[in-house]
Amino acid sequence: MRLFLLLNGFFSLDKGFLVYAKYYGKVYTAALKPLLIVDGKEKILIDTGIGDLPEPYKRFYAVTQSSECTLQAQLLKCGLKPEDITTVVNTHLHFDHCGNNKLFGNAKFYVQTDELRYAYSPDRFQKNSYIKQFFDYGCDFVEVKGDYKLSENVMLIATVGHSPGHQSVVVRHKENSYVYCGDAAPLKENLEAQNIPGVLYRADDALRSLEKLKSFKNAHFIFSHDNEQLSLE
Ligand SMILES: [Zn+2]
Repeated sequence: MRLFLLLNGFFSLDKGFLVYAKYYGKVYTAALKPLLIVDGKEKILIDTGIGDLPEPYKRFYAVTQSSECTLQAQLLKCGLKPEDITTVVNTHLHFDHCGNNKLFGNAKFYVQTDELRYAYSPDRFQKNSYIKQFFDYGCDFVEVKGDYKLSENVMLIATVGHSPGHQSVVVRHKENSYVYCGDAAPLKENLEAQNIPGVLYRADDALRSLEKLKSFKNAHFIFSHDNEQLSLE
């Protein structure tokens, strides 16, 4: 099995979106980092990055994506084409995590039931985080409820709070385990200081999810938007 941390570019946002009640007014250049797991015939992609945003979003989030950072280019570096991907896991359906779902015509998409339902009818305070055309096009979703064993080495674990159906991914690889936190911990600081994300559906659940992630001892944690962690080293 091999793991590749991809880079789908960067987008700018208020750092207060990433850490609750801290850093308001500070701009953060957030990285977009899908994870590719090649496990024999299985080619599993965790999240699909940001995709082509509608105009108002483009202006607000100032996406920077060089030609090397398109998902196609990133996969090609690993010797793959989009049609080779067999499985996609969406940690959740916010626009910066499912933006390129459409590229993967041969994949099944694993998403939590609660997330899929909420994405169609979000509350006013989360409305801007969901862009319907990124997930509502006949995408081949497999709905999951709670923790779920995806394969021998890959577990999906429910880590709700940032959104109603957020999930993280635990990968066992040789002696190590890798935990792809998603936006349950977008930055290292979220996990280390137990500081919940700034974008929230439920703060108490978000805190419990950080505790759940921390319970994986000696794991290598991958933070969805931390721009100081751009490789698995
Ligand atoms: Zn995000």
